[in-house]
Amino acid sequence: MSAVELDGVSKNYGAVRAVDRLTLTVDSGAFVTLLGPSGCGKSTTLHMIAGFVQPTEGRVSMGDRDCTRLAPHRRNVGMVFQNYALFPHMTLAGNVEFGLRMRKVPKPERDQRVKDALALVQLDQLADRYPSQISGGQQQRVALARALVIRPDVLLLDEPFGALDKQLRDRMRVDLRVLQKRLGISLVFVTHDQDEALSMSDEIVVMSEGRVRQIGTPDEIYSQPANRFVAEFMGESNIVSARVLSCQDGWCQVEAAGLTLSLAGTHPPGASLDLLVRPERIGLRLAAGGDAQGTVADLFFFGSNVHYRVTLRGGTDLSVIRPEAEASERFAPGTEVTIDVPESLPFVLGAAASGATDDPSVPGDT
Ligand code: ADP
Repeated sequence: MSAVELDGVSKNYGAVRAVDRLTLTVDSGAFVTLLGPSGCGKSTTLHMIAGFVQPTEGRVSMGDRDCTRLAPHRRNVGMVFQNYALFPHMTLAGNVEFGLRMRKVPKPERDQRVKDALALVQLDQLADRYPSQISGGQQQRVALARALVIRPDVLLLDEPFGALDKQLRDRMRVDLRVLQKRLGISLVFVTHDQDEALSMSDEIVVMSEGRVRQIGTPDEIYSQPANRFVAEFMGESNIVSARVLSCQDGWCQVEAAGLTLSLAGTHPPGASLDLLVRPERIGLRLAAGGDAQGTVADLFFFGSNVHYRVTLRGGTDLSVIRPEAEASERFAPGTEVTIDVPESLPFVLGAAASGATDDPSVPGDT
């Protein structure tokens, strides 16, 4: 059964179309992430699920109940905000207890549930402290306990780790994912961070300008982007124009930026294609005997990997990401190299759309 269904939901703020005909199903127990650049309508969507914002059109349902016009407190939804929104004058236990008091849960049951919820986020030892007496990461955990204690049908999180430093953020990601799976709770998570979305989600909804650009598993979104926007948003990418040279038995030879590449599929000779070639699977070798295909223009060292910009013979720049190598084994700027693109790597944009919008008016789609 689905936990949440949005059916053709839109929201206008005056002339601004914040969300445009969004249709989405959140399966029970699934971790679904709304991902996109700032201003693309993620929070508005989340607030329509919570009931803080009324859709201009469309329908919001939970389970088999139409909630479109239902007040927030009549929906069984837990919400965690980026700024935690804890009550400063209440202890951590008081903060977590608040929602249960509002729901008139009897005192003995309240005490037990508060204790359990704080234990769940490993803060039971600090129940009597005030928010000002704990760290940002701990405040975020209290906000999570406060949302979970009401046993919501769906948990909504709006950029919950945005204010945390990287190390803590990484740990919270793992902890949240483990907790969500352990409790089997349905969860909708909002972020603009691709890595966060890829590492945590069962399903990602990529949005821009109020619209869904693609819905899919992290693998699908990363490896088979439905359009140029998704390809570029999901990480460093090379998008190159290619011309089909020949095609036989489901494999084509194409010419792209002066390179001859092989790719799976059937396309008529002479056809033009836009190819996505992810940089981390491109190989580089030192050119020998006049077989150079490009020159290293520059390199950036990122610790676990090295990013190269290689200028091909025809003048096109290619991004290449290689695992970290000893300084002496790196290709210095000016080095002539040959390029190795594995056969299965080039992906034809627009050829394998998965849950993608097929609206030709969406800019950037191919
Ligand atoms: P995101 O969460 O992806 O950053 P939002 O959902 O907050 O995006 O905003 C989507 C669009 O709606 C933006 O253009 C934003 O300026 C506009 N918007 C959001 N809330 C309001 C509001 N209360 N009044 C007017 N415009 C709003």
